[in-house]
Amino acid sequence: MTEFITHWIEGRPVGGESGRRGPVFNPATGEQIAEVAFADVPLVDAAIAAAERAFPSWRATSLSRRVEIMFRIRELLVARREELAAILTREHGKVPSDAQGEIARGIENIEFACGIPQLLKGHYSEQAASGVDVYSIRQPLGVVAAITPFNFPAMVPMWMFANALAAGNTMVLKPSEKDPSASLYLARLIEEAGVPPGVFNVIHGDKVAVDRLLVHPTVQAVSFVGSTNIARYVYEKGTAAGKRVQALGGAKNHMVVLPDADVGAAADAAVSAAFGSAGERCMAVSVVVTVGSVADRLVSVIAERMRGIKVGPGTDPEAQMGPLITSEHRNKVAGYLATAEREGAFIVTDGRQLATSGAGFFLGVSLVDHVKPHMSVYREEIFGPVLCVVRVASYDEALALVNENQYGNGTAIFTRDGGAARRFQSDVQAGMVGINVPIPVPVAYYSFGGWKASLFGDRHIYGPEGVDFFTRGKVVTSRWPDPATSRIDLGFPQNR
Ligand code: NAD
Repeated sequence: MTEFITHWIEGRPVGGESGRRGPVFNPATGEQIAEVAFADVPLVDAAIAAAERAFPSWRATSLSRRVEIMFRIRELLVARREELAAILTREHGKVPSDAQGEIARGIENIEFACGIPQLLKGHYSEQAASGVDVYSIRQPLGVVAAITPFNFPAMVPMWMFANALAAGNTMVLKPSEKDPSASLYLARLIEEAGVPPGVFNVIHGDKVAVDRLLVHPTVQAVSFVGSTNIARYVYEKGTAAGKRVQALGGAKNHMVVLPDADVGAAADAAVSAAFGSAGERCMAVSVVVTVGSVADRLVSVIAERMRGIKVGPGTDPEAQMGPLITSEHRNKVAGYLATAEREGAFIVTDGRQLATSGAGFFLGVSLVDHVKPHMSVYREEIFGPVLCVVRVASYDEALALVNENQYGNGTAIFTRDGGAARRFQSDVQAGMVGINVPIPVPVAYYSFGGWKASLFGDRHIYGPEGVDFFTRGKVVTSRWPDPATSRIDLGFPQNR
């Protein structure tokens, strides 16, 4: 019998009565390993009600206590990271080193949130007017919703709940239905660390659950990470219902390589950033833009490096790259290669030729050269182990290509020319820029977010902007009157 994955509401597993369920697979074997409950509207309402009940006392909990709990969450995560990594490998397919990396980057966000007393400090102005003091405070919003994608089942929830909970909010998380167990593991761990029941709830499901979160009047804010079309939908529907929304979408990240770059280092970087996590990263490099004479040499070194990549299940200690998330996704990614060939691109390395045993959702690594901007392999986000090469003649042509793309998540430039790098960082239309760094995911004390169709909303996620997103400002103007100077004045208040 397959395992049944429940929701988590007010500190308990809840099965729900919708009768709707979804399959969960082990992508490395192709076997269905579990069924996950799908929430209906009454169940979403029950989770929101639990979060609403928990809010007053969580908000009133002292900052020192909340910090103590955040430290405890960190300790537990560090102690149990291998257990959590094994869950990621089993349901997502990523190899253990990659799963450990995901958890480590998530823990950085908990560490940042341990500094919440400093982050919530306001300002104080004494004697702004005669006998009047003015000060600002930041307060939690209340019940907030988090909706997350399949590709980082532990880290992306940590991006959201660390700051949200530390700031005093309560949360309903709706993780991806494709790999739902990590969020349940986190819910249990968070409560073991001392977070009271109801502060962090997990509901599983699909559009039904998301749609309810987007319109429920109690939900104050929605933090979403996923594909661009759904991000746009979530942003429009959530803001129309009066909510604060940040919705991070898809990407097509370009790595520009100038003729003076170190070809070996650039090839290593491109291969690592394109094929890590089987390319299922929103910060994966998916297009290498070669400028001028570097193209032939770079393509041949990249192709040579790719030959060494070992694809296999996460249980194989030698595997460097695992399978894709579902067989449909695997076939869709393979389909891009067929279309690229038809459209006139040149397949240097063809991942469809990978010989695998068993029914896992594996696809080998692919390199596609002579890609042109009109081709679908260039225009669309592939989200798989396919690296495209676009050859251009000049730096200006490379910059224009990046800037004309609909996405603007991350980008990178590889060069030894500081002046060119500085121009690039200034002129490129993307939210995160790497200079000789291929996956410039900001550290947790900066914020993460793209431009253009990679982010809907005006605040980036985690870091200082994350704290801002999950809090609301208030300015207090206060006077403790001296009865001797009290008088009536109907004029508009002046400060002098
Ligand atoms: P997805 O958009 O399919 O799903 C994201 C979430 O939305 C899931 O919880 C899913 O259940 C829900 N959802 C799916 N269809 C929906 C619908 N019609 N209505 C309402 N909700 C719906 O994304 P995914 O395939 O899980 O994740 C991969 C995508 O996420 C890629 O496009 C990737 O670039 C993007 N991503 C972006 C970032 C970023 O920071 N910008 C980070 C990670 C992933």
